[in-house]
Amino acid sequence: MIVDYHMHLRNDREQIAHDTGAVSPFVHAARAAGVDEIGFTEHGYYFTQLRTLWSVPYQSERCAYDLEQYVDAVVQARDRGLPVKLGLEVDYVPGREDETRALLAPYPWDYLLGSVHWIDGLSVDGDPRLVDEVGVESAWHRYFETLALAAGSRLFDSLSHPDLVKIFGDRADAFDYSTVADAIAESGTAIEVSTAGLRKPVGELYPHPDLLRACRERAVPVTTGSDAHVPSLVGRDFDRARELLSSAGYETVTVFERRRRRQEPFA
Ligand SMILES: [Zn+2]
Ligand SMILES: [Zn+2]
Repeated sequence: MIVDYHMHLRNDREQIAHDTGAVSPFVHAARAAGVDEIGFTEHGYYFTQLRTLWSVPYQSERCAYDLEQYVDAVVQARDRGLPVKLGLEVDYVPGREDETRALLAPYPWDYLLGSVHWIDGLSVDGDPRLVDEVGVESAWHRYFETLALAAGSRLFDSLSHPDLVKIFGDRADAFDYSTVADAIAESGTAIEVSTAGLRKPVGELYPHPDLLRACRERAVPVTTGSDAHVPSLVGRDFDRARELLSSAGYETVTVFERRRRRQEPFA
């Protein structure tokens, strides 16, 4: 089974389109790409219901949409029998775990992705850049410490683009992934293999093969995602994702339904 569990419900110009009509182009694109099931994971910071969590200007400026409308759009498609799942890409906010859990509780999620895009107001993948402010070594350590906390919060079903900190191509020397892999394994959270990194300056899949192997050794389950912000990117480069998964020893991917997970062979 091929699943793409990371995409943003937009029109073909990447504009927010949280309506059932916007789901169809993603479903068609999935079929064309040989993807059996897709899951929508809009950024949590777009939604006014979650506003109290967001302190970064980038998040607050975008916090103008109705979560009910997004949920209804995907659930209607799901109820019509389309192969779609309801998810959300949620920024992990350290210290606000209980509030995050409570705010997300009312909705019928199939799964939640946990992301680390900001650390102390600095951006991992945009401006102001964390790597420029604190240096590469420190950025890497702080990023993976925060990712380990995100896993340990048990708020999320899978961790998106788990080594996002490499996005611009800067790397810490001989980074040891065992600590973060231990934390992820202990938490029971899955990690995402994402093809989005191939379209970024680093030009690689997330995560690095060494991190994925460390997770495999600890029996951490995986999800797969394109991080498509337009329908045409659904399932993009999934042949590369499968190669990476196979080379790390994985034979299955995780499929979610109402936050229960099962393993399916990827083929
Ligand atoms: Zn993301
Ligand atoms: Zn995303």
